Amino acid sequence: MSLLESYAEVAGADVIAQLRQLAATLKGAKVVHINSTHVGGGVAEILSKLIPLKQELGIDTRWEVITGDSEFFECTKGIHNTLQGNRIPLGESLLRVYEATNAHNAETLRPVLKDADFVFIHDPQPAPLLKFFPERKGKWVWRCHIDASHPYRPVWKYLRQFVAPYDASIFSLAAFAKELPHPQYLIAPSIDPLSDKNVDLKPDVIQQTCDKYRLDCERPLVVQVSRYDRFKDPIGVIQAYHLAKQYLPTLQLVLAGGGATDDPEGEAVLSEVQAAAGDDPDAHVLLLPSDAHLEINALQRAADIVLQKSIREGFGLTVTEAMWKGKPVIGGDVGGIRLQVINHHTGFLVNTPEGAALRTRYLLHQPEMIAAMGGKAQAFVCENFLITRHLREYLTLMVALLHGAQDRIELN
Ligand code: UDP
Repeated sequence: MSLLESYAEVAGADVIAQLRQLAATLKGAKVVHINSTHVGGGVAEILSKLIPLKQELGIDTRWEVITGDSEFFECTKGIHNTLQGNRIPLGESLLRVYEATNAHNAETLRPVLKDADFVFIHDPQPAPLLKFFPERKGKWVWRCHIDASHPYRPVWKYLRQFVAPYDASIFSLAAFAKELPHPQYLIAPSIDPLSDKNVDLKPDVIQQTCDKYRLDCERPLVVQVSRYDRFKDPIGVIQAYHLAKQYLPTLQLVLAGGGATDDPEGEAVLSEVQAAAGDDPDAHVLLLPSDAHLEINALQRAADIVLQKSIREGFGLTVTEAMWKGKPVIGGDVGGIRLQVINHHTGFLVNTPEGAALRTRYLLHQPEMIAAMGGKAQAFVCENFLITRHLREYLTLMVALLHGAQDRIELN
C-alpha cells in the first residue's frame, strides 16, 4: 500500500482523491522547504511528514536545514522570544551574525534554490535568505509558526525588512497575521495520525513505558510534553501539580521533553524545573531523546489529562496529539491553543497555575467527563487537524500562487 493510500483509512478515500487531483496541476514542480533543525519542535515534526507525502504526489520536494554556530542560535532564539512578546533588545553584533550566517547558507543552498519553483522558509531563522536571490525564479513564501501577534516592535521592524519582499506569507491564525505588502494565508498545523507519535498502541506497550518510568497506572496521571522552554511554563505546571496534590495525594506528574538543536536555553530551563520538582517521587521530570516518539505516544495515552500550560504558543502540536488520543487538554489561554481547545467541551483554557490545578481536580473527580471531553477532542482533531487537510491547503496555496490573479482554475 502506498503512503497516501494508508491515510485513506483514517481521512477517507475522497480526501486522498482530492489531493491527487490538486497535485496533478503541480506535477514536476520543484519545491524546497527550509528550517533550522531536523529534530525537536513542531516544525521539524510536520516537515518530516509533509515532505514524503508531497514526493509521493509527484512533486519534487526537498527539505534543507540551515546551519549556524551557537551565536546564531542565541540570536534566533532571541528573535523568537521577542516576536512572542519578550521586550529584550538584540545586540548589533548578534544581528550581524544572523545576517552573515544566512549569507553563508545562501551560498551553500544556491544550487538548490536558484531554480526552485516554490521555496517555503519556516520561521525567522532562515528569513533573510531571500535577499541573496535577487534573480529568483520561483515563488518564495515565509511560513511563520509562532505567535507573533504582540511582538516587541523594534525586532519585528528589523525582521520585517527581510519578510516583506516575499511573495506571500502563511500564519497559523488570523490573530497572528501582520501588516505586509503581500498576500497572507492562514494554515493551521496538523499531526500525522500514522506516525509513531500518534498510532494506536497496545496496552502492554503503554504499560512498559509506565514501568520504565515508575508510573503507577492505577493512580491519576497528568502529563505535559514540551521542550524545556519558559514559554511552555514548566514551572507553572509544577506549581499546578503541587496545588492539586494537596487534594489528590495519589496524583502523579510527568513533564517530558527533550532539546531542539536550535534551542540553546533548554539546559538552563531543565535545571530550574528539576529544582522546582525537588525529590517528590511522583513528580517525574524526563529528558527524552529526540526519537522517543513511541514513548511520548505512550505517555500521552497513559495520562488521564494532558496539560499544555504555555504562556505563548503558536499552535501546540502536543495539544492536538493528546486530543487525537482522546484526552481532555488543560491548556494555556493563549495563541493557537484557543483554536485547539474548545473551552468546557474538549478541555479547559486556563491563565494561572491555580486555574490549571482547579480544572485538574474537577476533571479527576469526574471520570465520565474525562471520557466525554476526550471523545469530542478526538472528533475535533479528525475534522480539522490531520495532515491530509494540511497538505491539501499547501497544494491549494501553490496552485493559487501559480495562477496568480486568474479568477478560474481548472483541475482535471
Ligand atoms: N516533542 C518531542 N519530544 C520532546 C518534546 C516535544 O518529540 O521531548 C514533540 C511533540 O510531541 C510535538 C513537537 O515536538 O510533536 C512540539 O511541537 P509543539 O508545536 O507542541 O511545540 P514547539 O516545540 O514547536 O514549540
